[in-house]
Amino acid sequence: QVKRSGKNHHLHYNKEMQQELRNKAVTEGIIRKAVQEDGFYLVYQPQVNVKTGEIESFEALVRLKHHSISPDVFIRIAEESDLIYQIGRVVTKEAIRQAAAWRDKGYPRKSISINFSSKQIRDRDYLQFLVDTLAEYEMDPQCLEIEITESILMEETDLTLELLEKIKELGIKIALDDFGTGFSSLNYLTYIPVDKVKLDKSLCDKFLSPDNIKVIESIISLAHSLNLVITAEGIEEQWQYEQLKLSGCNSIQGYLFSKPLVAEEAEKIYEKNFLDSL
Ligand code: C2E
Ligand code: MG
Ligand code: MG
Ligand code: MG
Repeated sequence: QVKRSGKNHHLHYNKEMQQELRNKAVTEGIIRKAVQEDGFYLVYQPQVNVKTGEIESFEALVRLKHHSISPDVFIRIAEESDLIYQIGRVVTKEAIRQAAAWRDKGYPRKSISINFSSKQIRDRDYLQFLVDTLAEYEMDPQCLEIEITESILMEETDLTLELLEKIKELGIKIALDDFGTGFSSLNYLTYIPVDKVKLDKSLCDKFLSPDNIKVIESIISLAHSLNLVITAEGIEEQWQYEQLKLSGCNSIQGYLFSKPLVAEEAEKIYEKNFLDSL
């Protein structure tokens, strides 16, 4: 009896693994096709200044045109192959093109941030690509922000620090994304050249209640003592906004203000004051 269910379990496990491998192969095929056939687009989510209610910057987030696979899923699969390099470049170019288009249409200047996967550190010519693309669109590097996660420090630390220093020298800002999901050692905030820390949604969900707020408050005060700006991510409720404002958080990104929007929709809220709608 025991033996048989053990065997069944084993079979079941194999089947699941095979299914997963198949799904992965299918998704990789979809990504490969998207890379070849212009199959990506970007959506933009505003980061709103807590005090003024104005949009300070937009985070560019990638989507597949013909599939509803979440970027959490397809980015992870792309990271296991060279496809992430190509996606990284497509996103970089499109975000800079869009920022330049908004400038040319007369919209006020705001930052655009793009996500840089830790694996892209191995795309050795990325920096040159970035410089060339900024030049092509005559974009001021100060308008660009690159979001990294702490996992970038796990491998090739020297190379990483060198690249980050060069990015900073160009005038591009660096944000540390998903803070609170990894090791979250505050130590490396003192030696990696970041300008901004983004508190992850999971941290905000857990530590914004009055009983727990000290955790967030101490992260914010440490960040401020290092001259870093703090953005909170995944804010859906007004009370969270109120609490973060009291705690000295600088800006907020979340469904409370806006979901990520296609460029035409982002234009409609470009100059909106979000405090008016609270
Ligand atoms: P992320 O960079 O931390 O982006 C924030 C994610 O939180 C986005 O998910 C956004 O839609 C979601 N979000 C924002 N506000 C709220 C909220 O109030 N509630 C909830 N439930 N979610 C909220 P998205 O667009 O699905 O992206 C997921 C992740 O995929 C990103 O996390 C990022 O790590 C990765 N990603 C997205 N676009 C790119 C890209 O162009 N390149 C790379 N390398 N990674 C990307
Ligand atoms: Mg991000
Ligand atoms: Mg994040
Ligand atoms: Mg995330």
